[in-house]
Amino acid sequence: MSAQSPGAPITYQDGKYVVPDTPIIPFIEGDGTGRDIWRASKKVFDAAVAKASGGKRRIVWQETLAGEKAFKETGNWLPEATLETVKRYRVGIKGPLTTPVGGGIRSLNVALRQLLDLYACVRPVRYFDGVPSPVKRPQDLDVIIFRENTEDVYAGIEYQAGSREADRLRDFLVGELKARIREHSAIGIKPFSEFGAKRLIARAIQHAIDKQLPTVTLVHKGNIMKFTEGAFRDWGYQLAKERFARQTIAEADVNGTVPAGKVLIKDRIADSIFQQVLLRPKEYQVLATPNLNGDFLSDACAAQVGGLGMAPGANIGDGYAIFEATHGTAPKYADQDKVNPGSVILSGVMMFEHLGWNDVAGSIVRGLQGAITAKHVTYDLARQMDGATTVPTSVFADKIVEHLG
Ligand code: NAP
Repeated sequence: MSAQSPGAPITYQDGKYVVPDTPIIPFIEGDGTGRDIWRASKKVFDAAVAKASGGKRRIVWQETLAGEKAFKETGNWLPEATLETVKRYRVGIKGPLTTPVGGGIRSLNVALRQLLDLYACVRPVRYFDGVPSPVKRPQDLDVIIFRENTEDVYAGIEYQAGSREADRLRDFLVGELKARIREHSAIGIKPFSEFGAKRLIARAIQHAIDKQLPTVTLVHKGNIMKFTEGAFRDWGYQLAKERFARQTIAEADVNGTVPAGKVLIKDRIADSIFQQVLLRPKEYQVLATPNLNGDFLSDACAAQVGGLGMAPGANIGDGYAIFEATHGTAPKYADQDKVNPGSVILSGVMMFEHLGWNDVAGSIVRGLQGAITAKHVTYDLARQMDGATTVPTSVFADKIVEHLG
């Protein structure tokens, strides 16, 4: 019987996951509030899987260590065993992790993404009816952001002002390439490659095709940085013509209306898109962005629909994926059973969709919507809602379970 099954790994064949009924899924509970959030999220996931499958399917969760817990137990913030586990089982989920200050590791999240080459950071932003919002029609925003996850500022190349490296690099740039840089400047480098841009944009376009969404927008600052940001835009249009000619049309080639069934590929300058998602949100569905633009844009979009407590994310590569909250560890609320677990719960929804368990994903979304409609919500939502009852993290999870579809 599956209830006793020790579980089996998810495998990957011909570009597709093969998911057993009892998949082993590694989890990292996270630091600070991560502990409360993970406990609540797991309860919702287990209940939704059991309900959607009539008890036939079950997740076999496998804890794997990272962050403070790993450091305490192993002396290492990101043990090699963790990377091996995620590699072996391919799909994992994590709570937020503390960024060690002054340690040898820049950010655990960035390290995990780079080591597994999780090149697409995917962040859907949608509105749940009844969630407080600073805009008049939050329901008009329904976007999914595909943010490049390995290049641009995440490549992490920068040198401190006054360091030997920075001065040597400046000497080369000024002496050989006639660049103008003040003496003793700090220098950062943001690499963009055709390979990196195209594989990310391909995922965004494929998503629009699969979900029959009408537009993909390339977000860039190419008016100023022509060979990095501008190239991102140009490679995007090129890719659409080379690989998706049948299914897409570029905005410049539209004569009147977009032909039926074609995905419109357009581009917007980074500063303009912040205005567009506020004033004309219905014109945007899929956004493909370089690393830094996407980070800003996804938080700004999340704010329109209720803030970071409700913002899920996924880091996806070819045959590997880690799903995670987009917020941090909120350490001042650690172990108080207080914060909103919505971000990890919605990351779980993305994970189940990624694995093809759409029935489970749909059930959780209905459960979350039910709890919000009943106005039994955590403090962050309750403080902005009229007549809401503030409930702890654990009770919010119970309320979601009560309303599972
Ligand atoms: P944060 O943990 O995101 O918290 C900032 C504020 O956001 C909180 O004080 C709270 O606002 C609100 N918030 C965050 N999560 C919430 C939730 N689940 N429910 C309700 N409200 C929530 O940011 P931080 O304090 O700047 O960062 C703390 C640590 O997390 C740092 O070490 C940072 O490096 C790390 N971090 C990790 C990740 C990750 O693992 N992916 C991402 C970002 C930051 P109110 O006080 O207004 O209630």
